[in-house]
Amino acid sequence: MGNRQGALTDMTQITRDFRGQWMQKEPMSRHTTWKIGGPADLFAMPADEADLAGLIRGCREREIPWMVVGSGSNLLVADNGIRGVVIHLGRAFSDRRLDDCRLTAGGGCALSGLARLAVKAGLQGLEFACGIPASLGGAVAMNAGAHGGSMENIVRWADVIDDEGRIRRYQGEEMDFAYRHSRLQGEKAIVVRVGMELRWGDQEALERWMEEKLTLRRKSQPLDFPNAGSVFLNPPGSLSAGRLIDEAGMKGFAIGGAQVSERHANFIVNRGGATAADVLALIDTVRARVLATCGIELKSEVRVIGDSGGQVDGWGTEDSHQRG
Ligand SMILES: Cc1cc2nc3c(=O)[nH]c(=O)nc-3n(C[C@H](O)[C@H](O)[C@H](O)COP(=O)(O)OP(=O)(O)OC[C@H]3O[C@@H](n4cnc5c(N)ncnc54)[C@H](O)[C@@H]3O)c2cc1C
Repeated sequence: MGNRQGALTDMTQITRDFRGQWMQKEPMSRHTTWKIGGPADLFAMPADEADLAGLIRGCREREIPWMVVGSGSNLLVADNGIRGVVIHLGRAFSDRRLDDCRLTAGGGCALSGLARLAVKAGLQGLEFACGIPASLGGAVAMNAGAHGGSMENIVRWADVIDDEGRIRRYQGEEMDFAYRHSRLQGEKAIVVRVGMELRWGDQEALERWMEEKLTLRRKSQPLDFPNAGSVFLNPPGSLSAGRLIDEAGMKGFAIGGAQVSERHANFIVNRGGATAADVLALIDTVRARVLATCGIELKSEVRVIGDSGGQVDGWGTEDSHQRG
């Protein structure tokens, strides 16, 4: 970013025309489900699409790095925080509309709320998402999925704002969806609106199914401690990352405030005061132990972002910043 003081001045300037809310030095621990992460130089919630496009153009002109976060449920933010602008789509991007079997919603919508809305209307296809604490934009970027369903099955199109502040529409087949993957992981683009296609189902049966899955989650997941869901991707084939970690004897293993959950080995919980450094050290230890005992190299599902001591991660193609 060049001269740091100059960059901070530039950043204050880009807020002059900005109509949304913004905070300086905002602790990212307030915006991640792990409750971990140092301050973002600027945390900005645009007022609408034009405001968002203007902000991105302002960042581009001044060479200020930016990135988007959703509900922070798949993020590990460095203890040093994030240099540049962190964009969050709040309530201004939470409109939703049902038209027959088509659901159109803003990128800032809570995914679980959309799942409930669809089920209440007797629509099938999104109920898998009832227990996923994501934003719609983050769920599309990650191709979130559970219980046999995933975003790729229902997303027909996604409107994104690109690095030049232009809006463009990707059709579902252009999204490069794969297991917990979409093209957005290698692009600087923000999902602002999504068109989904669902189908009519049996409303009562859908309600029952949803409640069963929520009960199962409450029993099998350590939801009483801050966490980020599954930390590692399941390896190809029918192997489960959680089972491999369990077999490697890592359940309950802790570094600082971070611990491999006793209840679900693929979860790392913040037992209180965990730092990003604790979690990263634990991730590395688990990977090494699983490799040594099972011969399998686990890849992380969580996105590691931020300023890890001189090196700034999270900009450009995030793939290169994924651990493992
Ligand atoms: C208790 C718990 C249970 C979970 N269960 C599941 C599960 O069953 N299945 C599953 O798949 N995941 C699960 N997760 C993980 C997580 O919810 C998903 O990965 C989700 O898709 C992340 O969405 P988010 O809005 O929180 O995105 P964030 O974590 O904020 O960001 C994740 C990535 O998406 C990008 N992103 C965010 N918003 C946008 C946007 N508007 N446009 C473009 N890119 C964007 C970010 O830049 C980042 O690269 C779980 C997490 C928790 C804490």
